Amino acid sequence: MSFAVGIDLGTTNTVVGAVRDGVACTVADRSGRRLLPSTISFHPSGKVLVGYPAVDRRVIDPDNTVYSIKRLIGRAWSSEEVQRARHRFPFVMKEGPKFGTLVVARGEEYTLPELSAFVLRAAKAMAEESLGAPVERAVITVPANFNDLQRAATKVAGKLAGLEVLRMLNEPTAAALAYGQGSDGVRREGSEKVAIYDLGGGTFDVTILELSGTVFEVLSTAGDTALGGDDIDAIITDRIVEEMLKKHRYDARTDPIAYGRLRIVAESIKRELSKEQEARFDLNDLVFDQGKTIPFSFRMTRAELEWASLRLVDRTFQVCQGALDRAGLAVDDMDRVILVGGATRMPIVARRAEQFFRQPPFLRVNPDEVVALGAALQVTALEKSGPRMARISPDSIAPARPSARTHPAALPLDLPLPMVEPNEPSEAYIPISVQAPESLHIDLPGPGRALVFDMDSLPAKRALLPPPPTTPPPPPPAPRPPPPAPALPPPPASAPTPVPPSPPPVTEQPPLVLSRPPLLIDVTPLSLCVETVGGFCNQLIECNTPVPCDRSRVFSTASDGQTVVFVRVAQGESDRFTENAFLGELELSGLTPAPRGELEIVVIFEIDADGILNVRAQDGKTGRETRARLHAFGAQHEEHELAAMQERQARHTVE
Ligand code: AMP
Repeated sequence: MSFAVGIDLGTTNTVVGAVRDGVACTVADRSGRRLLPSTISFHPSGKVLVGYPAVDRRVIDPDNTVYSIKRLIGRAWSSEEVQRARHRFPFVMKEGPKFGTLVVARGEEYTLPELSAFVLRAAKAMAEESLGAPVERAVITVPANFNDLQRAATKVAGKLAGLEVLRMLNEPTAAALAYGQGSDGVRREGSEKVAIYDLGGGTFDVTILELSGTVFEVLSTAGDTALGGDDIDAIITDRIVEEMLKKHRYDARTDPIAYGRLRIVAESIKRELSKEQEARFDLNDLVFDQGKTIPFSFRMTRAELEWASLRLVDRTFQVCQGALDRAGLAVDDMDRVILVGGATRMPIVARRAEQFFRQPPFLRVNPDEVVALGAALQVTALEKSGPRMARISPDSIAPARPSARTHPAALPLDLPLPMVEPNEPSEAYIPISVQAPESLHIDLPGPGRALVFDMDSLPAKRALLPPPPTTPPPPPPAPRPPPPAPALPPPPASAPTPVPPSPPPVTEQPPLVLSRPPLLIDVTPLSLCVETVGGFCNQLIECNTPVPCDRSRVFSTASDGQTVVFVRVAQGESDRFTENAFLGELELSGLTPAPRGELEIVVIFEIDADGILNVRAQDGKTGRETRARLHAFGAQHEEHELAAMQERQARHTVE
């Protein structure tokens, strides 16, 4: 018999959840540890160390020890995040094929999915040892705000690790599933509106859900894939570096190895300050200037850390406001606010969350394990054989965390919220302001080549599409705006939905056993668009559309006899194409030759239940389907590239 598990592949730690004999729990290693650090170290022996042994090597072998890969996966080499990481991380990174990123360790180059695959292999081995059976399938969780490339790259990592990926599940949705199924040992009646606030090592997500019996419906989601506990570590590291520079005239930023070591210390200081009001660390023998150690001790108070991280923490509430707006809800409409992710252990996070949501956050879920537990519960819903429902093991029910109120405040509690300059653009939440034209022109490579299509004709042309067998019926057509306004999808509803005045009753009792497997209704976090003349975007699929979903547009050719066309695709909320994540260039070939403008090409964008985009195209005249390929960087791999990665995995044993 083989097992399917749920894996929370985290920036800092990875956790595996499993359902055994109808009971969901997280699995432990031989020492009883349930968190597997997502750190990989390439040992001189050729072995690949993953987890705690790799963490130990961060200080002694920093240039061959790799971490925080999740912050980089699926991003272009030229992206701000990769370029920033390049200067901060002690390991070597370089540009790879198709604008992707490679990490160099012990003279060998690895793609980012390969590195994540090493972590997944270690997670798989840990689960196999604990469960006593092979693990072949998995639900893998990803931040809700991951774009198409980040999701696709994570899926490749799963395959390289020898896993059949049953589903990519959004982390906050998984957490809601575990909460809804009694991860705190409490049965819930009626319906609840819940905000899942998830601040991990490298990413922040907020998801607003409505829980109603076994139905979990996502109302909206928003996030920032480059905001997390790592950024707090960077703030502390920079503080240490500045003091060192002042006292010893030595700039640790010039030495990536010294900087990497200081980051490890910074993380310990951060954790210490979650418990204590002050932290002191001796940094002797960590940093060397011309072979001589720099003796140095560093002291920081919680108040200092909270002041320094306030703007960063408050950026998360800008994102929360965006998610509430998209769902058409106000903070007072929320019945529960659940804090998930290791970085929510910082007392300032819970205090600011209480201030923003005007209610104490719910702290009775284990912030490290709840996502893996939810992923394991989703396995039961997807597996054709095995139990179709599960209850949560009493071992996995979280003890209550100290509430925000039990932490003495280091900052005055009456600070205005959020502490972000009013006009400061948030990286994550950019209001949409698409000025859509009546017709679209898409420039094509080559002189004088362009695609033109008429926006007004779209609803009629939609009929050309055969209904895809697996997707639900399309949503009702958007109300037609008066001319000349184009037919774009309607804006998100803004009227708040009425909710009961007080939270629904909860009854303390043993873990819940569901009578039916859960039904999840999730959404796509980011809009999908094509590039139009002047570098603008035109959306085909709007953010927060329930998935799976599909949308289509009708195109035509710009020259006589044209048999190939290209469409540039991006994902994001900006109206400037280059400010969104470029997914690639869509090539439609094998078209029937025809005079310019006569051919109808129906381009269909489909988002599957994993949140991954698939593209189809039809010759509108004949109904014949044409081939479509997305030339995206990083995530799409040719057969020979996959084979090379698999061969490199096979050459290394993981311990
Ligand atoms: P996750 O991605 O959910 O595993 O969260 C990892 C992040 O949580 C890292 O940035 C950790 O440093 C941070 N973290 C874990 N424990 C604590 C703590 N006690 N206080 C502050 N941050 C913590």
